[in-house]
Amino acid sequence: MKVGIIGLGAMGFGMASNLANAGYLTAVYNRTTEKMVEFIVENLITAYPTPQSLAADVDVVILCVSADQDVLSVVGAIAETLRPGTVVVDTSTVSRDTAQTAARILASKQVAFLDAPVSGGVEGAKNGILAMMVGGEADVLEKVRPVLETLATRIIHMGPNGAGQATKAVNQIMGAGINQAVTEALGFAEAQGLDMDKVIEVISGGASGNWFLQHRGATLVKGSFAPGFKVALHHKDLKICQGMAVQTDFPTPLVDMTVVNYQQLMNEGYGEEDISSLYRLKKPD
Ligand code: NAP
Repeated sequence: MKVGIIGLGAMGFGMASNLANAGYLTAVYNRTTEKMVEFIVENLITAYPTPQSLAADVDVVILCVSADQDVLSVVGAIAETLRPGTVVVDTSTVSRDTAQTAARILASKQVAFLDAPVSGGVEGAKNGILAMMVGGEADVLEKVRPVLETLATRIIHMGPNGAGQATKAVNQIMGAGINQAVTEALGFAEAQGLDMDKVIEVISGGASGNWFLQHRGATLVKGSFAPGFKVALHHKDLKICQGMAVQTDFPTPLVDMTVVNYQQLMNEGYGEEDISSLYRLKKPD
């Protein structure tokens, strides 16, 4: 199975490396040439000048781009050249509606689509240990599962197209709550004058320990917010969650508060920082 990937950003780069190491990857495309050059120098994989040219040459196309309009623009472009029978797997985080629209566009070309958003951060992408929540036909997932197993250790079929993205929205709401909890608690710890390294060490081993505290706690208390997962991307995800929640009249006060906080960070020029920069708003003066 020949696999191509479109999008070599923070997540896509690590995913592409794992696909290359497993021998599946034959094609890469990135809008900004520099990242593509960096990748092919390390991996000796063919770089394509356009998404359309890549799509014509592979059996599976993996997408890892930013937002809804990016997925739809790439899907619109590759629909021109994809061969019937190809499978497109979108690992970006977008809305349920976008996943269903992409699936409809591609179905008209006899191309199957899976919405397959992931969780696990850049570390998970780099180490091939992501969690992947998949929407689409179960038999299509089984066909490409060996490829996806190079990216993720947990791959769960959630239902038809859109169910993967709906599950990812659940994950993003939880992520917002964890970020709020960890940054507020560590701000409180600092205000109490505690030894922050010891606070992180002991709490990581107890019932309140979590991935975010373990992977971001030590850096955030030092004021280091290299992404990671950008504030602007999580803000985009939470706006998607708000849109979905309104449809079912479901209140999401935690999401609403986090959107306001992230908007403030973005207004102050911190949108490209890791989401742990929420600590900027929680840290005692
Ligand atoms: P990123 O570092 O900003 O990378 C985005 C990638 O998408 C870049 O390669 C970018 O190309 C490409 N891109 C964006 N718009 C495009 C377009 N219209 N046409 C072609 N290429 C386009 O973002 P990331 O952190 O890798 O995240 C990618 C996706 O995964 C997002 O949907 C994000 O929400 C999701 N995600 C991220 C994390 C995380 O921890 N970072 C975790 C899980 C899921 P350029 O290089 O030219 O800009």
